[in-house]
Amino acid sequence: GYVGIHSTSFKDFLLKPELVKAIEHCGFEHPSEVQHECIPQAIMGNDVLCQAKSGMGKTAVFVISILQQIKVQDDKPEVLALVLCHTRELAYQICHEFTRFAEFMPNVKVGNYFGGLDIKKQRAELKDHTPAIVVGTPGRIKQLANEKALNMMTVRHFVIDECDKVLEKLDMRGDVQDIFKKTPHEKQVMMFSATLGQDIRPVCKKFMSNGVVFALSAPPAAALTAGRGSRGLAARRVCVGTCVCGLHLTASAAVGSGGGHTPDAGQHGALRSLRACRTECSVATLDPLPMEIYVDDEAKLTLHGLVQHYVMLQEDEKNRKLTDLLDALDFNQVVIFVKSVQRAKALNALLNECNFPSVCIHRGMAQDERINVYSQFKENKVRILVATDLVGRGIDVERVNIVINYDMPVTDELHGNGAAATATTLLAPDTYLHRVGRAGRFGTKGLAITFVSSKEDSEVLNAVQERFDVDIKPLPSSIDASTY
Ligand code: ADP
Ligand code: MG
Repeated sequence: GYVGIHSTSFKDFLLKPELVKAIEHCGFEHPSEVQHECIPQAIMGNDVLCQAKSGMGKTAVFVISILQQIKVQDDKPEVLALVLCHTRELAYQICHEFTRFAEFMPNVKVGNYFGGLDIKKQRAELKDHTPAIVVGTPGRIKQLANEKALNMMTVRHFVIDECDKVLEKLDMRGDVQDIFKKTPHEKQVMMFSATLGQDIRPVCKKFMSNGVVFALSAPPAAALTAGRGSRGLAARRVCVGTCVCGLHLTASAAVGSGGGHTPDAGQHGALRSLRACRTECSVATLDPLPMEIYVDDEAKLTLHGLVQHYVMLQEDEKNRKLTDLLDALDFNQVVIFVKSVQRAKALNALLNECNFPSVCIHRGMAQDERINVYSQFKENKVRILVATDLVGRGIDVERVNIVINYDMPVTDELHGNGAAATATTLLAPDTYLHRVGRAGRFGTKGLAITFVSSKEDSEVLNAVQERFDVDIKPLPSSIDASTY
């Protein structure tokens, strides 16, 4: 299928020679579409809010553009870039990506900080070595920043990967805001996800440009004349949000085609207080708008190399069906998603009893063990992974060609207990999309099989088919292995 690889070369981005060499070493020849669109903007220091489908190389967008821009001073070690994401495994993976691309930049150090690791050790380490690039999960980074073990005042690049997930729950969002407030105003902000619903976009944009939310209703002339890649946007902009520092902005103001900002008389007070809370936060001087890339036609999020099927069965038939499938299917590596920690443990034990050498990963495990399992799977030392949604997003394992939804996504595993029913039904298709996106990375082929055992499961399956315009058919009695 169409994989969205661009005919241009990475050489066209005119990157530093040491970066070009590393890109070659990583085996990247042609940029993907999202890289072709975003890297030129990102290396100019522009803010980027980017939605692009799973497995298309969003990581390399921020990794390459940060490495291109940072200038490490050997005599003055400081944190120049901060990358936040929602799980420790993803933080670990991203850190590894930076290390790979910084292969020929020996003075660029990358630090990885997330919960579950010994914070005392991290503190001590930070005392002696300040990494230029810090990757971590919000909770731990916030703690280290609060303790001043990490100085956020020197950050020039602020990235959130899987931004919808990171900002969706208020506790994690709060941590991000606290960290953000410690960083200087002048910096580049970049955010990425395969799913960026209408509701979360303004939340993301609060962190960008002026820190003021604009609701867009027609194409922003200023943005377009400036030649920026704002797609699917609108011309009249109305401030409707709160400043990122938490101060409420009630002003609404129209922006003309010239980019001027004319607040209504009664709203000057609000604008003044906004200026007062953050001097540079003036809406009157428009910072360059963030570059925004959305996939508004959700059908375009469907991975075309991925064959998708479902199996209708009873709950008590799942184990038998699964083992039959594992016997029959031709897989390199497979991820089997279940809905709870308990079920991950139980299913993994069962598979081991049946002589399937599987491992499992979930948040009920000790941190070092989690990373250990992740590494083993990533390095193809084990072929079957039973997992919760902990690794449903972001995780990139090249040889995974089959994903099995043993349980249909119902609610988010990470926040399961607290999720509201409505959010659950809305988010289940997103979870499905991310999970199956673990196969078919970077345009490769793959197979996704989903077990459907209840009315609710069928509803989610229908929602997936509708939203992503994909026809998921019953699993045929045999599938040609060359299709996946
Ligand atoms: P996303 O974050 O968009 O889901 P990733 O950044 O995890 O995708 O990339 C998916 C896979 O594609 C990774 O294994 C990555 O190394 C690979 N990849 C990314 N860009 C390229 C490229 N231009 N050429 C070859 N492989 C690439
Ligand atoms: Mg990613």
